[in-house]
Amino acid sequence: MLPPNLTQADFDRAMDELRAVLGREWVIAEDGPRRASYRDPFAPRDVDKSEPTAAVAPANVSEIQQVLTIARQYRLPLWPISTGRNFGYGGPAPRHAGTVVLDLKRMNRIIEVNEKHAYAVVEPGVSYFDLYRYLQARKIKLWMDPAAPGWGGVMGNLVDRGAGYTPYGEHFMAQCGMQVVLADGTIVETAMGATPNAKARHLYKYGHGAWVDGIFTQSNFGIVTQIGIWLMPEPPGYRPYLVTFPHEDDIHQITEVLRPLKLGMLVPNAATTVGLIWEAAVKVSRAQYYDGKGPLPDSARKRLASDLNIGNWNFYAALYGPEAIMNNNWKVIEESFRQVNGAKFYFEADRGGDPAFAYRAQLMRGIPNMTEYSLLNWVGAGSHVDFSPISPVTGDGALKQFHIMRDLCHRHGFDYIGEFLVGWRDMHHILMLVFERNDEERKRAVRELFEALVNEAAQAGYGEYRTHLDYMDAIAETYHWNERALYRSFEMMKDALDPQGILAPGKSGIWAGRSHHKRS
Ligand code: ADP
Repeated sequence: MLPPNLTQADFDRAMDELRAVLGREWVIAEDGPRRASYRDPFAPRDVDKSEPTAAVAPANVSEIQQVLTIARQYRLPLWPISTGRNFGYGGPAPRHAGTVVLDLKRMNRIIEVNEKHAYAVVEPGVSYFDLYRYLQARKIKLWMDPAAPGWGGVMGNLVDRGAGYTPYGEHFMAQCGMQVVLADGTIVETAMGATPNAKARHLYKYGHGAWVDGIFTQSNFGIVTQIGIWLMPEPPGYRPYLVTFPHEDDIHQITEVLRPLKLGMLVPNAATTVGLIWEAAVKVSRAQYYDGKGPLPDSARKRLASDLNIGNWNFYAALYGPEAIMNNNWKVIEESFRQVNGAKFYFEADRGGDPAFAYRAQLMRGIPNMTEYSLLNWVGAGSHVDFSPISPVTGDGALKQFHIMRDLCHRHGFDYIGEFLVGWRDMHHILMLVFERNDEERKRAVRELFEALVNEAAQAGYGEYRTHLDYMDAIAETYHWNERALYRSFEMMKDALDPQGILAPGKSGIWAGRSHHKRS
């Protein structure tokens, strides 16, 4: 499919000009596995809807500027990606078929790791594994904060406002300093970076004047080419732990107990309260417990919990610091969670050989891994899309969201596979909708379920923090207070910064005012 309003002849000319700038190898316009690698591998529908027309891969900022000149001339829409591993939210694919993916993974330099001030500066193509290996090889005593799949990128995850598991788990909070290329080719250094010979580019986030870094996240206002990210100094001690709780509705009390612990920083990291099946699916598959249709029956859930020695909820967090502090904090934490009947407590030594504990223990101390992908085996050759509303850290809020989501899942024939990721004042409630990759009927069911989830959550007052390509418009519509004032302001910014609408049309439901796709 061609970009809108472009003839085949113009498209071919644009590709030739791009080849002249980037070399033939880095303009991927022909049918074949290289171009297919930019499809959404987990699409819950026909992939054609977001099949990219081509992909182009510049090696540096100057090549990006040259690509932009050609894109502006031909009105060629470009979808920037960093490592393109945003699986569950669309992977490397663009929102619209007929868009050209701007693949930045060749720009993969770790520009600086500053041990004294504990930060790194990276380009888009740096994966968590890359940064981890860099720190390890040089014996640098700084921890990074990976998302669950370690092949994802430091920048891609951050600009999509993803989260991790250490005390630096809110990735955008740990960001400091950004370089962005605007649609007209201007290179912008934000905040302190805008002073010549900046001495505090990655130490103070805000600089002088309006602080703009946020508008380059989950948006289509620019191409981010460098970011600074604060790293956590290795603490003198680390002790991950698990607390299991027997009943589904315990989520109410767990969350009430947790709030003061989290606000008081006795739980310093981005902790997780993990549902039964999420916890189990890392280790076993559904077929081992049930071969019928519909959600897992209660009897099978009970067997699962007892075989694996897990709870209906499983709370993972960690202690960090000198022994004396960890010991004291633990006393308060244990005493608090003991209020929940049936709570059981485990440290690493108690869960030897448990892959679920092992990968969580790694993530909470900044070691990237790929274990969470085993979840997809729950249904055999599984794919997933994620539904991710924000919940307050209250028992009522968590229980209500859990009931809405579990009941809708069950009504549509799916298991509830969810976890609450506990941030500073909120919880990201992540529902992983796992479905059989090659089953059209299940894909249709996922789509129906997803629509119902968006609507019911919105009616109950909950909005999502991030979403799959297919639902960006639907979720943008739920942020409609005062006649879409927020989204209208995005459209004004879009029209000012990218009047031709060439950057990531439709990203997060933001369309250029004059775009031919406008809110299609
Ligand atoms: P990851 O592989 O880390 O999960 P991706 O590279 O897939 O992340 O990026 C996730 C999304 O963030 C992309 O689909 C795109 O919308 C946006 N994005 C990624 N990198 C950039 C960038 N350098 N500039 C602007 N937007 C980006």
